[in-house]
Amino acid sequence: NREVDHATSQKLLAMARGGAVSAAAPDYVGLDAYRAADGYQLLQKVRDGVLTTNGIIEIMEHAGLRGLGGAGFPAGKKWGFVRGYPGPRLMSINGDEGEPGTFKDRVYLETDPHRTFEGALIAAHAVEAERIYFYMRDEYPAVLAILRAEIAALEAAGIVKPGFIELRRGAGAYICGEESAMLESIEGKRGMPRHRPPYIAEVGLFGRPTLNHNVETLWWIRDIVEKGPEWFAAQGKPGHQGIRSWSVSGHVKEPGVKLAPAGVTVRELIEDYCGGMADGHEFKAYLPGGASGGILPASMGDIELDFGGELAKQGAFVGSHAVVVLSQVDNIRDVTLNLMNFFKHESCGKCTPCREGTEKLVTLLKEKGVPNETAMRDLETVMRDSSICGLGQAAPNPVNHLLTHFRDDL
Ligand code: SF4
Repeated sequence: NREVDHATSQKLLAMARGGAVSAAAPDYVGLDAYRAADGYQLLQKVRDGVLTTNGIIEIMEHAGLRGLGGAGFPAGKKWGFVRGYPGPRLMSINGDEGEPGTFKDRVYLETDPHRTFEGALIAAHAVEAERIYFYMRDEYPAVLAILRAEIAALEAAGIVKPGFIELRRGAGAYICGEESAMLESIEGKRGMPRHRPPYIAEVGLFGRPTLNHNVETLWWIRDIVEKGPEWFAAQGKPGHQGIRSWSVSGHVKEPGVKLAPAGVTVRELIEDYCGGMADGHEFKAYLPGGASGGILPASMGDIELDFGGELAKQGAFVGSHAVVVLSQVDNIRDVTLNLMNFFKHESCGKCTPCREGTEKLVTLLKEKGVPNETAMRDLETVMRDSSICGLGQAAPNPVNHLLTHFRDDL
């Protein structure tokens, strides 16, 4: 989409806001307003060497900033790895946000896109990336229009050279949120995960060392440097670091993106951030991390939500922090079947355990009466142990939890 000039982008943006595509696209902080509020001064300091790359990496590590696309890898450490491989290097931004129940990146890009751009340009400077590829899902037309307009504005203002940030549109595949599949897609190939090693930090986009970050991870960089790593780290509950954006949906009174500490519990999210359960609904279960993070019962509603910890012991994970709250009206076998149909549809088909396993689990869940538990447990083990990527490894999580915690719904 490099051929789209600034004027065309502005027209597209106006269409996206006023037309049928997305009449609800909100106003956002454009380049002028962002700069008027000291935006891009931090980037200038980094480019001028007032803040050194090692200094920024230390700040990120001290703050405990983790990758917020789902994997939770420490951001500062990632920068160090990529810098350790000989250049030329590249950077990619993962805006695919395909995990069901996740919508935080969309909110940030529709309100304050330059915060992500500034974080990205600082990260690109840190690893000396020659170019940034911004991968954005096509299901967010208003975001695409905003990005086109603001990349053109950055170029016009001389903050980036023409072509330094290249926008690439995804085509609706969940698997393209997996970083190596996303790189394949950017390279113009079918989006399928790569075997690792080598990891993309060493051999990534077009064979070069590549730094890949989620939108929200980059969004926090300016705040962390300006307010200090101690400020960010202290936002977490005891034993946890940082503040997180929780996409909360389901049977709560006020769903939405909630800023809450790392380590918050689902019960706190429901009561303190979402106004309680919706009328007529009793808390029965929850998905702590979208479709792939599993399904836990309300009796486990006091688990502190973060990467690893008690959640991991229960075979669940927080991933992209998409919390879906279920109530007595939801049958967990039906929910599990719904999720498994999703995984069956989105499996890229590259490896047998996932391609066949998701389909077989759908068949088993659809059978009348109590399903064949032994077959389901066997499939769960095979898929977890031998699928190539996280999709196939995590797909049986809901089945595990259905069989373990929701036997009444079998
Ligand atoms: Fe594709 Fe599934 Fe194998 Fe991942 S686990 S490579 S999505 S078939």
